[in-house]
Amino acid sequence: MTSSPGLRRSGFAGPYRGRLTGVDDVWDLVIVGGGPAGSAAALRAKQLRPAARVLLLDRADFPRDKACGDGVAAHGRDELALLGVPDLIADYRPTRRLEVVSPGGARVRATVVRPNHVVPRTVFDARLVDAARARGVEVRRHRVRALAAHGGHIVVDGNVAARTVVAADGANSTVRRLIGIPASPARHTAIAVRGYADVPADDDVQFIAMQKDGWPAYAWSFPIGDGTANVGFGMLLPRLHATGLPGREVLHGRLAELLPHLPARDLRAHHLPLSPGRPRPGAGRVMLAGDAAGLVNPLTGEGIYYALVSGRLAGEAAVQAAGDPLPAYRHALRKALGRHLRTTDVLARAAQSPGFIDAAIGTAGRRQEVFDLLVDVGLGAGTVPLRLGWAVLGRWILNGVRRG
Ligand SMILES: Cc1cc2nc3c(=O)[nH]c(=O)nc-3n(C[C@H](O)[C@H](O)[C@H](O)COP(=O)(O)OP(=O)(O)OC[C@H]3O[C@@H](n4cnc5c(N)ncnc54)[C@H](O)[C@@H]3O)c2cc1C
Repeated sequence: MTSSPGLRRSGFAGPYRGRLTGVDDVWDLVIVGGGPAGSAAALRAKQLRPAARVLLLDRADFPRDKACGDGVAAHGRDELALLGVPDLIADYRPTRRLEVVSPGGARVRATVVRPNHVVPRTVFDARLVDAARARGVEVRRHRVRALAAHGGHIVVDGNVAARTVVAADGANSTVRRLIGIPASPARHTAIAVRGYADVPADDDVQFIAMQKDGWPAYAWSFPIGDGTANVGFGMLLPRLHATGLPGREVLHGRLAELLPHLPARDLRAHHLPLSPGRPRPGAGRVMLAGDAAGLVNPLTGEGIYYALVSGRLAGEAAVQAAGDPLPAYRHALRKALGRHLRTTDVLARAAQSPGFIDAAIGTAGRRQEVFDLLVDVGLGAGTVPLRLGWAVLGRWILNGVRRG
């Protein structure tokens, strides 16, 4: 019995020492977690190799709820098309208008180049899992607790053997812990609460209100198109701890304070592992995708698009580079998101100063191309051309001088 060198290096539990009881047969790919990242991996693997044996394990039955703003950016719809499910959310109303108020009160209201959608995760995730099932993926309800390397395989909970594992089990990933990759540090972790509120059925403006106190922090209202909106509030974990107050009191209180006209029900909170710029994509024959890899945009908290991209690339590597998928996955991820992740890392550091965001929003209010660029960086894989970076920097300095 041997464990793969990658797993051993990463501190993985090591070779399986007990007797394997009841291992039925070997799966080409076992995916842990049926959120957008896991379903994308499953869909892509079967799309490229229909004969591949793919097993999707989730601790929950679908449909299941997930604390989220339910915002699916146009970039996410591009991914759905690549996965062969272009019409998955076509029955939901497209939303074109976006309004943002900066911490210092600068306001921009504009039309996005390509519409976003708001789709409750109970619906979105269940549809993705159904699509994977329809493509021949086996879906089982099972909470994964243990992994072991055994021969050339990974054995999950002692009785499921896989050539490759994709860990898409979310922000508190068990698999990531089992392979010895640390969770996001607190400074790279946000926490957010979401609920639902009644709004006029024709409300079609995605609204974001940033808050100076405890910055970075903001509330949102994302109308679904059926007379309800997903509303919520999020902030960095260290800022929450710094208040010294119970988390629930702070999150619920600030949501009510920023959106007093939208009393929310079904409140539910969760952590967001913000991207540190250079994610660790796995170890040995285990690839991390989505929140498990810490792929949440540190500027906006957007994660569905990155979950879909990384899941797709992990599924692709699992079947196209079956012998040694991790290097192929690392390369593909870097190519798809590398520059973008480094850009958002730098911007997130600058954005620690609310004045920088005031300058960015102020500039976006006057120049449509800056607004478009912010949307692309905040919701997709956008990067910042130097010229525009300087424009925002100039305004930031000017604002500082004026205030001085
Ligand atoms: C309040 C809030 C608002 C947000 N708003 C937005 C937004 O508007 N737009 C956006 O793009 N992003 C948003 N995000 C981020 C987004 O929700 C995540 O980035 C996204 O869900 C990541 O998808 P995933 O597939 O990686 O993980 P998840 O969606 O978390 O799925 C993980 C799955 O793994 C399963 N699982 C966990 N542990 C195990 C285990 N041990 N065994 C088996 N299964 C397991 C879970 O049941 C779950 O189904 C928000 C996040 C929060 C908290």
